Amino acid sequence: MANNFIESIVENDLENGVHKSIVTRFPPEPNGYLHVGHAKSLCINFGIKEKYGGKCNLRFDDTNPTKEDVEYVDSIKEDIRWLGFSWDNECFASDYFEQTYECAVRLIEKGLAYVCDYTADEIRATRGTLTEPGTESPWRNRSIEENLRLFAEMREGKYPDGSKCLRAKIDMSSSNVNMRDPVIYRILRAHHHHTGDAWVIYPCYDFAHPIGDAIEGVTHSICTLEFEDHRPLYDWVVKNCDFSNPPHQYEFARLNIKNTIMSKRYLKKLVDTGVVDGWDDPRMPTLSGMRRRGYPAEAIKNFCAAVGVAKANSEVDPALLEHCVRDYLNAHADRAMVVEDPLKVVLVNLPERESIELIDNQNDPESGTHTAPLGREIYIERGDFAVVPPPKYHRLVPGGIVRLKGAYIIKYVSHEADVDGKVTQVNCEIIPDSKQGGVNAGIKVKGVVQWVDAEYGVPVVLNKYESLLLDETEEVKDFDKRANPNSLTVVKGGFAEPWLAQKEEGDTFQFMRAAYYKLAEKRPEGILFYRIVDLKDTFNK
Ligand code: ATP
Ligand code: MG
Repeated sequence: MANNFIESIVENDLENGVHKSIVTRFPPEPNGYLHVGHAKSLCINFGIKEKYGGKCNLRFDDTNPTKEDVEYVDSIKEDIRWLGFSWDNECFASDYFEQTYECAVRLIEKGLAYVCDYTADEIRATRGTLTEPGTESPWRNRSIEENLRLFAEMREGKYPDGSKCLRAKIDMSSSNVNMRDPVIYRILRAHHHHTGDAWVIYPCYDFAHPIGDAIEGVTHSICTLEFEDHRPLYDWVVKNCDFSNPPHQYEFARLNIKNTIMSKRYLKKLVDTGVVDGWDDPRMPTLSGMRRRGYPAEAIKNFCAAVGVAKANSEVDPALLEHCVRDYLNAHADRAMVVEDPLKVVLVNLPERESIELIDNQNDPESGTHTAPLGREIYIERGDFAVVPPPKYHRLVPGGIVRLKGAYIIKYVSHEADVDGKVTQVNCEIIPDSKQGGVNAGIKVKGVVQWVDAEYGVPVVLNKYESLLLDETEEVKDFDKRANPNSLTVVKGGFAEPWLAQKEEGDTFQFMRAAYYKLAEKRPEGILFYRIVDLKDTFNK
């Protein structure tokens, strides 16, 4: 069963014998790292390949040498692999530069393309508007021989950058501006990351793209809605370059997430100006940033499935992505005890240090257990004790009891404070036999708190992330003016149960009653964790 309108088209084409098998492609321009918007396109294109037993090529749309780089090529491949997709052929639009050139020559021979001496500005100025037709270039009616000679000389490097271009000869009064003799080749002396200095002319995207699709035998060329108006040109190119079995372009709505930057150009600016510490900064909406932060690939795919594929643009709530991340981690992440702002508790009647067995993940039936030492001195979260409790406070208070997670119920005895009244220590008694299964286990307690053995606890540093952007308001919409100064908070001074010191970088955890974290790095001053997402779900279904 088709999951969306594009899959319906594919199914129809297979049923009606329009295509025997399906070929799609993912065509990134290697001018930046992939972001979560690209994940949607990846899920659509590779989803069709996987579901209908077809092929999906990875094609780098590298027609813009000044902005592109191998660093981006490599990162794109890594990110696609991480999402769990594998492409059939790895292609570059530049692999087809010779064939693309031949296509242009064929158009000239058919009287369908001409060399124009206008500058880019002059072309823009004569293109007309949505309501007025454009005006024809004085070079529009050059002879075929002259066009062939000039185009060959453009390739040979006879003319300076921007002094001439090749234009398709279509219709300067077309209601579609894209059809008003679009530029299909320009002169540009720039080193290309894939073809070096072999070329000084480069095809434009709108010309190279349909040719690449046709050469690869792509059946369904899937792109975002902005290209809907380019489809007539796409069809014009494949038809006039005489491709049999022409590919077809289909458009879907791009993924937009509220308060989330989804433009490589702007993301690059954040990297270049040092607002973030690279494309894979854990706050970045890039796939590499999400991977580094600890977002599971599966959660991102689930998110794309939840968003669906529509024909109309809309904005998705970032809480949906967080919901998908949380959902996945809730099922897969082990639970751990960490105390961020420690308050010392002395268990005055604990005879000796014990070893407490804890379940790694109660949501996972295959989960194992691990142990945590419990000595006379432990830490609990400072916020879990209040001398004067606010209403509905279910934690430790003078005269009260609380359960230590997985261990005893403890009872307040006394507390000590410094000259400013800040509590420095709480003394408690354990209630004997109150561990699970004990005769006193049934005593009613309102609160359960996490704890860490004061001697064996390992120091932690917690990187807590917030959105890079403050909420958009009526007055402030511009990204540049919405930078969130608190997008990263570093919290030091906390302790984790020693089990975490044995874990690997990249492992993810639920810190009980706190948030999901990823173990980022073991440093001398403590284990560095990245906060992936909060426990509280704010997604409104
Ligand atoms: P950006 O504007 O961020 O540079 P782009 O569209 O120029 O993005 P490409 O590298 O050309 O980036 O994109 C590769 C593929 O991913 C294209 O097919 C494009 O349509 C798709 N894509 C890019 N952004 C999104 C998005 N936000 N939602 C869905 N698909 C996207
Ligand atoms: Mg693009």
